[in-house]
Amino acid sequence: MSVRVRFAPSPTGFLHIGGARTALFNWLYARHTGGTFILRIEDTDAARNTQEAVEVILNGLKWLGVDWDEGPATGDPKGPSKGSVGPYFQSQRGPIYKKRVDELIQKGCAYEHEGAVKFRMTREPIVIRDLIVGEVKRELTDREMAEPDFVIVRSDGQPVFHLVNVIDDLEMGITHVVRGEDHLSNTSKHIALFRAFGVEPPAYAHIPLILNPDGTKMSKRDQGASLTTYEAEGCVPEAVVNYLCLLGWSPKQNREVLSREEIIQLFDLPQILRHNARFDATKLQWLNGEYIRTMSFERFHEFAVQALNRAGLPITRFSTGYIRSALETCAGKIKQFSELADYAGFYFTDELAYDPAAKASLGPDERARLSRLREAFVVLEHFNATSLEAALKEVARKLEVKVGALVHPCRFACTGRTSGPSLYHLLEVLGKERVLQRIDRALALAEEAAQSP
Ligand code: GLU
Repeated sequence: MSVRVRFAPSPTGFLHIGGARTALFNWLYARHTGGTFILRIEDTDAARNTQEAVEVILNGLKWLGVDWDEGPATGDPKGPSKGSVGPYFQSQRGPIYKKRVDELIQKGCAYEHEGAVKFRMTREPIVIRDLIVGEVKRELTDREMAEPDFVIVRSDGQPVFHLVNVIDDLEMGITHVVRGEDHLSNTSKHIALFRAFGVEPPAYAHIPLILNPDGTKMSKRDQGASLTTYEAEGCVPEAVVNYLCLLGWSPKQNREVLSREEIIQLFDLPQILRHNARFDATKLQWLNGEYIRTMSFERFHEFAVQALNRAGLPITRFSTGYIRSALETCAGKIKQFSELADYAGFYFTDELAYDPAAKASLGPDERARLSRLREAFVVLEHFNATSLEAALKEVARKLEVKVGALVHPCRFACTGRTSGPSLYHLLEVLGKERVLQRIDRALALAEEAAQSP
């Protein structure tokens, strides 16, 4: 029997990383087994059902590279085929639910009650054989015992979550329900509904929750809770996929950096860990850094331009060649794209803002050395890293100072910073004109600061 799984989010305008991970685990399981992955938007709650809220989910999944295989045709003339179908929307499946409710009523498994339809719930304990959690026996609570039947269609005609969730899993031939552990408490109702339809329920796999680093439950407002923020902060999607997989699943052998293909190959449901996973921002950052370090320069360039734009740096007025050369000096040097505006901002500004405290570091000695360096730079015919390095070392030799005694004031004058890309390379990128201008301005400002009391 071929595996059929689904991700069934309700559009709340927010894609929690727990939800993103659920989507990913379902998708991985489908890809691992050669099965089918379905996306089903559970949008029967009309009040919350907006196009924007659906977009948040679709964009998030697209960003993660999670694609679905099936669904109604979207009107693409080439469809139905991958990419031109689905997702399924529960709001478009009303007649299917109606037919199934009639079936339950006819079988005596449901009945009308004060305008609503209620399901005749079994009074017997229900055993859930969960692939992750193990065997769970659910007895009815005292309150449920007093009134075990529950509403499946409200008096306004709206079918409720439990009903449509089960009907769709049944109609769509879902073989494995892989979802967050918060739904474990609903599962006995779902199993009872399946049986009322005369069908054995699918296999269940409830994934433990993602907790905050301190062990508390992750709420909407907690750091890292929304998938959208990862994209906004310039995270690499492969790093997030890799990280989410490690949150609650272990590939064994202590492997941590795994490509999508490797994960697909290794992923299996029984390996999902039973305990709750704690969100670890440092680990995600580390993984992200690993992906940045090893990505192609073209990819780095793409992410970097986005990050600089996001930071509001006016890079478009610079030539593409200049931007490219500037970014070449940053590749492999940053761990997160959010660091880039700070790291490389000096390339894309006309007037550097010098840190006032550090300005004092251009004392009389540094100013004298910097002036000598300027003289050496002015006469340079080829303003490239090799000749700049040679010229600087020559000045250091003549002045009998260490190379660092020139490197630091020069870096500070040209970048306004005490660290950054390789000095000789950044000087080459800035070019002679900018470098001389910056040295002049830094000297003038330091001189001014020295004069004022
Ligand atoms: N719509 C439910 C949710 O977003 C889905 C539950 C399920 O996966 O069965 O939590």
